[in-house]
Amino acid sequence: MPNERIPDMGSTITIEKPVFNLLLSRLKEEGYLPIGPRVKNETLVYDEIESIDDLPQGYSTKQKPGNFRLVHEKHSRFFDIIPGAQSWKQFLFPSHTELFAMRKNGKSWEISSQPMEPPKYAFIGVRACELAAIQIQDGIFMREDFTDPHYRARRIHAFVISVNCTQPAGTCFCTSMGTGPRVKEEFDVNLTELDDVFVLTIGSEVARRLLAGIPFDDASGYILSNVERKLEHAEHQMTRKLDSSDLPNLIIDHLDHPYWLEIGKRCLSCTNCTQVCPTCFCWDTQDEMSLDGKTTRRNRLWDSCFNPGYSHQAGGNTRPTIYSRYRQWLSHKLGTWKEQFGTLGCVGCGRCITWCPAEIDITEEIAALRNEVNR
Ligand code: SF4
Ligand code: SF4
Repeated sequence: MPNERIPDMGSTITIEKPVFNLLLSRLKEEGYLPIGPRVKNETLVYDEIESIDDLPQGYSTKQKPGNFRLVHEKHSRFFDIIPGAQSWKQFLFPSHTELFAMRKNGKSWEISSQPMEPPKYAFIGVRACELAAIQIQDGIFMREDFTDPHYRARRIHAFVISVNCTQPAGTCFCTSMGTGPRVKEEFDVNLTELDDVFVLTIGSEVARRLLAGIPFDDASGYILSNVERKLEHAEHQMTRKLDSSDLPNLIIDHLDHPYWLEIGKRCLSCTNCTQVCPTCFCWDTQDEMSLDGKTTRRNRLWDSCFNPGYSHQAGGNTRPTIYSRYRQWLSHKLGTWKEQFGTLGCVGCGRCITWCPAEIDITEEIAALRNEVNR
């Protein structure tokens, strides 16, 4: 029988699916803004969630290079979808942030900045690869020697309900990057969806407190083996691979290989891959001056190493060709990133493959470069 105990830290419990609404209510009472996957304008976005009915029940996603389809399959599960173009990056590192404003007062200028009071987010449905991407961005924006105050203000209070993937998409390759499909750490609550119940693992004291009094059962051995079977099935379903055994040297040692010219003929330099990538963090600042010259704002905007202007410096452009910009992206992501931040910069989410209009596939490009080098 369901009971009203407080679940233990690290324990795994089951709740009836409608009980998830009680957890959402608790989050809202505690001042959190729940954000999760929703169907809007016939696609999948991350947006505010009022109740479990807002989640994409019955939907699945079909993904392949250059192609994303949302399909209503009339099953009753809520988390069978694999995320679309959006990622949690847009909440922690928004595409547009005002850094400060200046207003002319007589002969002097007054500087002001907006108070940093972002919502207290509760992220619902964070996949293992996405959690790994958040950890990568934590390492970039919250370093020991420098912390970005805007990122930190959004990140430190975020409550994470992660989800184990049981239905990977055709472009996923998280098993190759060691990031998924199962969530291992850094969550408040980790959820696996079975047909009739949600299986929750408790990962933080905040989660324990929020779940106090919510009806649950301890997960039985049968439930736990069912979860394990689903995860093993998901791992076997993921056929796309990226061999990272010779990275970063494969790239770093062959920066002058003619293969880069070949990729450059297909890439459109559209920047899609960097905008959808949950780890990419290039940005630019732009000043916005009022017509009367009395106020100005400095904004931070997402940028991309595929934009020709990004590598424009005094004296000229250091990466004037498309092939040199593609090489820069890949040699950072799967090369120098490791030296800079300790891991590769790719978590295997597959977004850059799904959303590339030229169907350029990072897993195939690495394999093709290796073939060319070894030929
Ligand atoms: S490089 Fe591609 S697969 Fe890797 S994290 Fe970025 S979008 Fe995902
Ligand atoms: S690799 Fe694809 S998505 Fe990225 S810039 Fe080139 S064409 Fe656009």
